[in-house]
Amino acid sequence: MYDVEVQDTKLVNVLKQSVFFGIHLMCLGVIWVGFSWTAFTVAVLLYFIRMFAITGGYHRYFSHRSYKTSRVFQFILGVIGSSSAQKGPLWWASHHRHHHQYSDKPEDIHSAHMNGIWWSHVGWVLSTRFLEARLELIKDFLKYPEIIFLEKYNLVPPIALAVGLYFFGALCGHYAPGLHTTGMQMLIWGFFVSTTFLYHGTFLVNSFTHLVGKRRFKTDDESRNSLVIALVTMGEGWHNNHHRYPGSERQGFYWWEIDMSHYILKTLSWLGIVWDLRVPPERIYAEAKENSLSKEEYSKAA
Ligand SMILES: [Zn+2]
Ligand SMILES: [Zn+2]
Repeated sequence: MYDVEVQDTKLVNVLKQSVFFGIHLMCLGVIWVGFSWTAFTVAVLLYFIRMFAITGGYHRYFSHRSYKTSRVFQFILGVIGSSSAQKGPLWWASHHRHHHQYSDKPEDIHSAHMNGIWWSHVGWVLSTRFLEARLELIKDFLKYPEIIFLEKYNLVPPIALAVGLYFFGALCGHYAPGLHTTGMQMLIWGFFVSTTFLYHGTFLVNSFTHLVGKRRFKTDDESRNSLVIALVTMGEGWHNNHHRYPGSERQGFYWWEIDMSHYILKTLSWLGIVWDLRVPPERIYAEAKENSLSKEEYSKAA
């Protein structure tokens, strides 16, 4: 179990926490820059594009290798994922692999059952404990120099996105005044608001998917399935399914379990961009049938 009272005194951590809380504080900028449908739409789009890069990329690809893709698309997933300001793919995926090894055990880095909701949601991210990637758990990606480079300079994509949004908004304001936006407004909504929601959407998977929802499989952790979290996180709410069979690309195991990342990956597979999408084997479905409630009972309970 982790000592949640840990004394975070290192300078690097002060910087990390300042950036994290600074991004949250900057959301208050909406009071000054106001609202426009243009900036709001960009914020929503960037939330979902980057959520896909986190769930479909950092999680289902880098952490679990649940499908295959080209080196170019692998890098693209890494770059878009990093633009979420959740560190590089090696850091993210290696800590996640560790979570699967020790889910809800004392060694689990973000167990709500061991250390409480705050720690599992955000405390572990802000602590000094996990500054480095666990390279021993992610050796399979160390052979790609471009991924190592991205890991090292993982702050470049979010900074580039923020700067790009500012200029995009300024250009819109100048050349298309009908869009009613400005550089500052686009920066606040497109980067700060969108990134803050993205943080908490992603963190829900670490905190509430081990607390809220139904358990179809009797896994030796507390993972749960929740439709609401699946909708917010593009499919990650089917977390009990995922803990039962982490190798599966799809986390909604049935058609009625909405899994947006799966639909996107399936579409990308038809286009030849990704391939060899792994599915749960028959024995898992047989086990589900044996364990679970009927579909009607299940959806009522979820
Ligand atoms: Zn989990
Ligand atoms: Zn996982």
